[in-house]
Amino acid sequence: MTLVLHDTYARAKRPFEPRDPSRVSLYVCGPTVYNYAHIGNARPVVVFDVLFRVLRRLYGADQVVYARNITDVDDKISLAAIEQGLPISAITDRFAAIYRDDMAALGALPPTLEPRATAHIGAMLDMIGRLVEAGCAYPAEGHVLFDTTAFADYGRLSGRSLEDMIAGARVEVAPYKKNPADFVLWKPSKPGEPVWEGPWGPGRPGWHIECSAMIEQNLGLPIDIHGGGHDLTFPHHENEIAQGRCASHGGEYARYWMHNGFLTMDSEKMSKSLGNVKLVHDLVAEVPGEAIRWALLSAHYRAPLDWTGDLIEQSKKSLDRLYGVLRRAKGVAVQPAEPPAAFLEALHDDLNTPRAAAELFGLAKALETAESGGARRAAKAELLAAAHLLGFLEADPDAWFEAGADEGLKAKVAALIAARAEARAAKDWPEADRIRAELTALGVEVLDGPGGTATWRMKE
Ligand SMILES: [Zn+2]
Repeated sequence: MTLVLHDTYARAKRPFEPRDPSRVSLYVCGPTVYNYAHIGNARPVVVFDVLFRVLRRLYGADQVVYARNITDVDDKISLAAIEQGLPISAITDRFAAIYRDDMAALGALPPTLEPRATAHIGAMLDMIGRLVEAGCAYPAEGHVLFDTTAFADYGRLSGRSLEDMIAGARVEVAPYKKNPADFVLWKPSKPGEPVWEGPWGPGRPGWHIECSAMIEQNLGLPIDIHGGGHDLTFPHHENEIAQGRCASHGGEYARYWMHNGFLTMDSEKMSKSLGNVKLVHDLVAEVPGEAIRWALLSAHYRAPLDWTGDLIEQSKKSLDRLYGVLRRAKGVAVQPAEPPAAFLEALHDDLNTPRAAAELFGLAKALETAESGGARRAAKAELLAAAHLLGFLEADPDAWFEAGADEGLKAKVAALIAARAEARAAKDWPEADRIRAELTALGVEVLDGPGGTATWRMKE
């Protein structure tokens, strides 16, 4: 069964063949750490986490190197540091840690490598030097710019011609640029910004060179897969290709390019001015992270995704159904198994997560209707193996339903359920009903099972 991925560069689905199956490389553009990530920022994290899991299953966990960078030098970071009267690193360390926690709450595995821009200034200066030497970049007024006319394939990833880009460039083009589309590799620092010594004067790197230099140093060129949000295709990824290929004298840069679609908020663009920005940090405090993950994977990753209250509710209900099946099958022992073929086919077809998630319900039904012990064990093992590949059903089923109850409440509920069972055994129906009413008042729903057993869940 072959993994097929949609390659933005080829504008087609292509069978995935790594350059070296013993070291499969994946790079995804990471966060600029100066504030909280919004739910749109979380979409690529969860999408590429699924790809990371799929690759690890296919090639081995130690054979896949996944790098997701941290941009810790940027205008917005400098501005936040000046405004708050803090050193840059106080801002970036704080928000990098929050980012890691929030993404972990969505079930995203930590990447293998998390290179930071400020730890790679030397690598960036080295690459800029090679670009100048190769005639692809030129210094001007304390800046170094990439000469877009020096790279014949410029615009091929995003499907734009250089003429289009010049026509679309802002009217006011910096006077030191040879061509309007040329972009900054190095620039003088403004007051209050971090500054590094460089052969072209003191300054700081541009954003695009950061990813190319970190890829070259940490993964080596060419990498297998480069991913990111659709909005990064131009100019960021276009510029990365130009730099990376020119610096390596025309060699390959990334063998497959993958981009996830936009996320809208109730059919509108998410923006500060509309006041509809949803932060992951706030969402994970309100809703189980797994339900947010389900919602993010509910559309195919290349399709747009509309975030609504209904989507979250439906996602939670879908997981309730699956966890309900697992809870009823609690006593069924499992041994490690492989996900079934139909599920893998969906996932291997350019990560078709909606189809793969739908397969989980079929597997859950097979578990509920299995007639022999052996069939039940096999069905549960297949359901769990498939779900884990998507990063679902990782919680204990009881814990899923009891989420939101503190330890004191859990102990009280357990005592009441035991007392109710005793009352029922003694056929003291008024007392059993009284206890049920007490549980209802606590926000707890009792679910009677076979043989007088009862489980419970927090009511919506
Ligand atoms: Zn990048």
